[in-house]
Amino acid sequence: MKTYIIGNWKMNFTVGESSLYLHKLLQKVHAYRDIEVVVSPSLVAIQTLSLQTDRRKIKLAAQNFYHRDFGAYTGEVSISQLRSLVDYVIVGHSERRYIFNESDKDIRAKVSAAIRDGLTPILCIGETDTERMFGETADVIRDQLLGGLQEVSAEDLTKCIIAYEPVWAISGHDKAAKIASPLDVEDAFKLIRGVLKDTYGKSVSEDIPLLFGGSVKSTNAESYLMLDNCNGLLIGGASLIAPEFTDIIEIAKRVKDGRTKN
Ligand code: PEP
Repeated sequence: MKTYIIGNWKMNFTVGESSLYLHKLLQKVHAYRDIEVVVSPSLVAIQTLSLQTDRRKIKLAAQNFYHRDFGAYTGEVSISQLRSLVDYVIVGHSERRYIFNESDKDIRAKVSAAIRDGLTPILCIGETDTERMFGETADVIRDQLLGGLQEVSAEDLTKCIIAYEPVWAISGHDKAAKIASPLDVEDAFKLIRGVLKDTYGKSVSEDIPLLFGGSVKSTNAESYLMLDNCNGLLIGGASLIAPEFTDIIEIAKRVKDGRTKN
């Protein structure tokens, strides 16, 4: 299985800045066959960047979309409008769940729409600080995972990526983010694989890439990438800094070369 390094640029950079930044990354990033590098710019920059990028080095993801293909939905962008521009879509990010009140129903509609239109959904799940304090982490992970995948068949599950992103570890919000310990992350990964195995069977569950996201930087990336069940990283803040992001890609390559997983 490939290692996925995915940068979520969130609502940062103008179109011009995005283009300059991608240009810089393309100069530095190598085309490794076993490392999939993806960046997720703002929707307004997607078309420009899709013409500019070299997909062997860097593919694109959309941060959001509406699950219907066309129609009277003012202000929305559909998955079919994105299809030729991106390869991946982020679904269920905690900022969409908690700031924009996206429900599990919205999220499962998006996962299904992405699969239907041939894009890979990156389904984000993870507990809040309060849920963690109340010992609800496992329940939240299970509910968000099965809620998001409810309409996905075993055959289609292999077209999905799951990102475990504990909300308390994500940077850029009011409260200072905490750093998730690799042990906690591996426990969450084991739980996710277990739920997928119980629902879809062993072989399929082992084929699903599991990513970690939450204040990943070049200084801690290796500790997560070395985990048995970790197949990559979803990176917010550090993906906006070229040397950080490219260092993490090189770390992922070193880890990949150093040990044989899957
Ligand atoms: C994210 O937004 O998905 C994320 C993990 O952000 P950060 O790396 O900044 O915590």
